[in-house]
Amino acid sequence: METVPEYFGSLVFDDRVMKANLSDETYRSLRNTIDGGTALDIGVANAVADAMKTWAVAHGATHFTHWFQPLTGITAEKHDSFIAPSPDGGVIMEFSGKELIRGEPDASSFPSGGLRATFEARGYTAWDPTSYAFIKDKTLCIPTAFCSYGGEALDKKTPLLRAMAALDRQALRILRLFGNNTAKTVRTMVGPEQEYFLITKEMYDQRPDLRFTGRTLFGAKPPKGQEMDDHYFGAIKPRVAAYMAELNETLWKLGILAKTEHNEVAPAQHELAPIYTTTNMATDHNQLTMEIMQKVASKHGLVCLLHEKPFAGVNGSGKHNNWSMATDTGVNLLSPGETPYENAQFLLFLCAVIQAVDDYQDLLRISVATASNDHRLGANEAPPAVVSIFLGDELSAVLEAIEQDKPYHGAEKKKLKLGVDVLPRFTRDTTDRNRTSPFAFTGNKFEFRMLGSSNSIACANIMLDSAVAESLRQYADELEQAADFETALHALIKRTIREHKRILFGGNGYDESWIREATEQRGLCNYRTTPDCMPHLLDEKNVKMLTAHKVFSEAELHSRCEIMLENYCKSVRIEAETMAQMARTMILPAVSGYAGELAASAAAKRALDSALPCAYELETVQKLSTLADCIAQHTASLEAAILSLHDAPDITAEAFAIRDSVLVRMCELRLACDEAETITDKRHWPMPTYGDLLFGVK
Ligand code: ADP
Ligand code: MG
Repeated sequence: METVPEYFGSLVFDDRVMKANLSDETYRSLRNTIDGGTALDIGVANAVADAMKTWAVAHGATHFTHWFQPLTGITAEKHDSFIAPSPDGGVIMEFSGKELIRGEPDASSFPSGGLRATFEARGYTAWDPTSYAFIKDKTLCIPTAFCSYGGEALDKKTPLLRAMAALDRQALRILRLFGNNTAKTVRTMVGPEQEYFLITKEMYDQRPDLRFTGRTLFGAKPPKGQEMDDHYFGAIKPRVAAYMAELNETLWKLGILAKTEHNEVAPAQHELAPIYTTTNMATDHNQLTMEIMQKVASKHGLVCLLHEKPFAGVNGSGKHNNWSMATDTGVNLLSPGETPYENAQFLLFLCAVIQAVDDYQDLLRISVATASNDHRLGANEAPPAVVSIFLGDELSAVLEAIEQDKPYHGAEKKKLKLGVDVLPRFTRDTTDRNRTSPFAFTGNKFEFRMLGSSNSIACANIMLDSAVAESLRQYADELEQAADFETALHALIKRTIREHKRILFGGNGYDESWIREATEQRGLCNYRTTPDCMPHLLDEKNVKMLTAHKVFSEAELHSRCEIMLENYCKSVRIEAETMAQMARTMILPAVSGYAGELAASAAAKRALDSALPCAYELETVQKLSTLADCIAQHTASLEAAILSLHDAPDITAEAFAIRDSVLVRMCELRLACDEAETITDKRHWPMPTYGDLLFGVK
């Protein structure tokens, strides 16, 4: 059997394969394009395409596809085979540079938010050579960006690459000021920790809510949930272990650095974390990971749920976006250095993040906003909808000392003077890990914890990279003009801490009193739901910043806002309709049927002997009948709320109507149904219960 190092990346056209299969000259040109962004000429493209095809065919591939990330949140592919007829009646395998570089999928069925007129259905995909091509299902997949014919981005990769480029430009300006003339690029790095649930396929198939919406819309609390904390880091069950083993092997072949796996807090919940890599690759890899998690599950008779809140009453699933900035020479800019000068540089980059998170709290909140993630944020299992930063005791003390010109009570008691003192290394404080913080510094990286498990990490990183690029731009503008760099630097750091310290918070983020303090005293945003936050995407300051760094055009921002609200409305609508249908066709017949059975049994007893007691039957019949009426009423009222959505004048109004009426009625209906579940004969209940689902995988 092959060992992991032997098969790792075997399905990836990575640097090793390029070196081995391209001429020196072609390899060098391609490398320049990958590392330096230089344009690729068609001769090189042809040579690369030919080598890719030969390699792919040798690995069993028959097709190729431009693989892209439209605004649906999942990836898209359209396969073309390599075959071309040869004169003798056979075929040869062909793939040209043109086909590698550019594709023209019919874009008319992807969301564009009004960017693309219906008569102009064409969109085009353009090869992104910074993410390696790979083979999946006998198809050579070429990572691409997806744009409209007019050049507007219709995907998540294009703005991500633009945001990474913006940060690169501004960070290099800062590094030059510190005398660093060797670094050629600064890239952000991400390691996304992915949570998910596994349930059996057999039970999944019996629940229309899971099949249509990815979450349970009904379900009474089981006697045992996560209160014993016995699942977290618990021994992995054999069936799950077999799943994880196959998942790892599949991911490794695709060059994905799957590293850590463990059971999570809720029963049936697990986590997978890869080793971090550049944000662009991490994004592609995370999309692939989510897809493969689901595929491998089906081979094991399981279903992998990536929804943020598949079960009420136990923890939902998130995704922690571990983020840092690094030079091409391997220096992590969020790591305190060995010399005073490096420390000052570290503090400046730290300030850039602090200011970015404060100035663009709203954009960070927006970047994780979906109907499904609204169930988690602020629900005491995930960070609140209020964004704040946790730095840990030591770093907080350092910043306070700088701000107030006070001695720093670290190793020695002395005043900190940037450019002179060496800061201590901020090793991750294991005793004081604040898990309730949405944005925590963990030694040499920040961990943004508001992402939902199904979110593409592109969105969060687009906003994060852009916002940090903006702080760095301001700093570079100021420092480049300074007469005395060190004095100006010290003043800038001090001022930034003073102006942005309201975003720093070390306490319990789940606490109600924090939400009050954050909003009332500190003036931080608290956008609880998607309709609350999404319109702020178009606030003047946000449009100004994102267009200035060329991450989005104004038209693109309008279209994205529209699409995100549309996605919100569509997903809740589907849930509401599924609920109404399940209530009418599954739950009401079960409740009423069981009441009828009990009534019949009471009648039979009475017929036998009119003195026989029937209190149990009659009381239960009474309760069930009352509940059935109540369920029928709530169903009707939910249906009416869905219908009245037609009256909403625009998508924003519809989103608010969903928040204020549809979601409220869904809760009412669920409450009545869940109560009915607790008194209905299990044999009559038309679907697997929470107990079955959460403890069903042996
Ligand atoms: P946790 O205790 O939260 O699981 P880990 O140290 O295991 O933290 O790291 C979690 C994730 O952070 C992993 O994906 C890891 O690769 C990633 N990570 C570590 N260092 C960095 C870094 N400098 N930049 C970005 N991500 C990083
Ligand atoms: Mg973590």
